[in-house]
Amino acid sequence: MKTMKLTLAAAVLAATGWGTSVTAATAVGPICDAAARVGSTTYYSCSGSSHNALDISNGTCSEWNHRGMINVSRHYAYYGGCANNCSGGTSCNGGAGNYYVVTGGSGWDFRQLHLNSNGSSRSQTCDRCALGLVGSTGNSTGAHVHADNRQYGTRKTAWYTSVGTTCGTNANCSNRLGTPTL
Ligand SMILES: [Zn+2]
Repeated sequence: MKTMKLTLAAAVLAATGWGTSVTAATAVGPICDAAARVGSTTYYSCSGSSHNALDISNGTCSEWNHRGMINVSRHYAYYGGCANNCSGGTSCNGGAGNYYVVTGGSGWDFRQLHLNSNGSSRSQTCDRCALGLVGSTGNSTGAHVHADNRQYGTRKTAWYTSVGTTCGTNANCSNRLGTPTL
C-alpha cells in the first residue's frame, strides 16, 4: 500500500512539472582498483590550463572496467564509434571519444569520456555498471576517465570541490568523489 501511494505521488509530481527538478546525486570512483587516483581537477595535471572536471586513472589501458559513477540507477546514453586506443590525440566525437551522458533537469548533465568500447558499451539504465574499458579515445593523452557536471554545456566545479576531492584523491569505486547536480 505504501508503495502504491508513493507511485501515485511520483505520477502527480511528474504531471505537475516537478519531474524536471534537479537533485544532488552522488558520484563514486569509476575504477574498482585501489590504485585509481584523481590526476586533474580544476586545472589539467593540477597546475595547467583550465579543466573544470575530474580526470581519473589507475595507470592501465583497456584492462579495467570504466564504470558508471552515479550510485543509483540512471540512464547512460552512449555515443560511440571511435576506434579504441591508448594514446588519444584524435578529434573523434568532438574530442570526447566514446562517451556517456546522464541527463538531468534544468540543463544539467553528467558525462564520462574517453572509454575504449567493449560488449558492455551501449545505452543502458544501470547502477555503477561496466560501461566499457578505461581508455584514451578522443582528445586524451593517456587512458583515463574524464568526468564532468555541466549546466547548459558549461562545466561546473562545485560538485567535487564541495566534498574536498582534489589532485591525488583516491578514486577507487568505493570512494565518493562528488555530488553532481542532475
Ligand atoms: Zn579531463
